[in-house]
Amino acid sequence: MVNNKPLIIAGPCAVEKKEQFDKIVQDIYHDTDVIRAGVWKGRTSPIDYPGIGEKGLPWLQEVQKKYKIPVAIEIGTTKHLELALQYELSIFWIGARTTVNPFSVQELAEAIKGVDLELWVKNPIVADLKLWSGAINRFKKIGLRNIKAIHRGFHTEHEIIYRNHPRWELLEKFKTYHPDIPIICDPSHIAGNYRYIYQIAQKAIDKNLNGLMIEVHNNPEKALSDKKQQLNPKNFNKLLKKLKYPT
Ligand code: PEP
Ligand code: MN
Repeated sequence: MVNNKPLIIAGPCAVEKKEQFDKIVQDIYHDTDVIRAGVWKGRTSPIDYPGIGEKGLPWLQEVQKKYKIPVAIEIGTTKHLELALQYELSIFWIGARTTVNPFSVQELAEAIKGVDLELWVKNPIVADLKLWSGAINRFKKIGLRNIKAIHRGFHTEHEIIYRNHPRWELLEKFKTYHPDIPIICDPSHIAGNYRYIYQIAQKAIDKNLNGLMIEVHNNPEKALSDKKQQLNPKNFNKLLKKLKYPT
């Protein structure tokens, strides 16, 4: 929370080109506290866009300096972490597909030990609170202080309008496990479609969650990943204006 308003995190699902990333940041940096950017994308299929990789890291570093705004990225391996640290990045998250794997989480926790950084832990794909909590505990155990949780919804086999089920009621239980950990809601990955972002974001605010992570792309229809759910900068701006905060 910044002045009682949720922390806003926005940016593309994936960094694709330098010009694309620069353009998005230029259009949204006034309206967001942190830029999100996917450089390594853990895709379901090996033929899907895997992210720009290491090549994109200097672009992120440049943006941090130029706009004086932090850029957060997903890391899935200790190699990702090592590379990202070389480019002065200091906010990272682990994705839903990493949180499910205690071996990966433990390896990352050991690599992070003693490093001054902020880490966000997305909920696992499955609605298993103990797995989510256990991942957080692995980072707490190595002494990391700056941890946040990201609520990105849970896979379900039931027909629902969203891509992932929000299961809001589980968050109440999660808070009893980790009352000290702020929760960021990721309406983009819950929704799966840009039309539902507003209703989910408003619900997260009404539930007093501490932040919103929103995917924003300069040309969503042409995006190389998650094209249906990304907002363009104009609609992102409209969304922020429409959201109502408790007074
Ligand atoms: C992402 O943030 O772009 C992403 C892949 O999210 P998740 O790990 O929640 O699926
Ligand atoms: Mn995405």
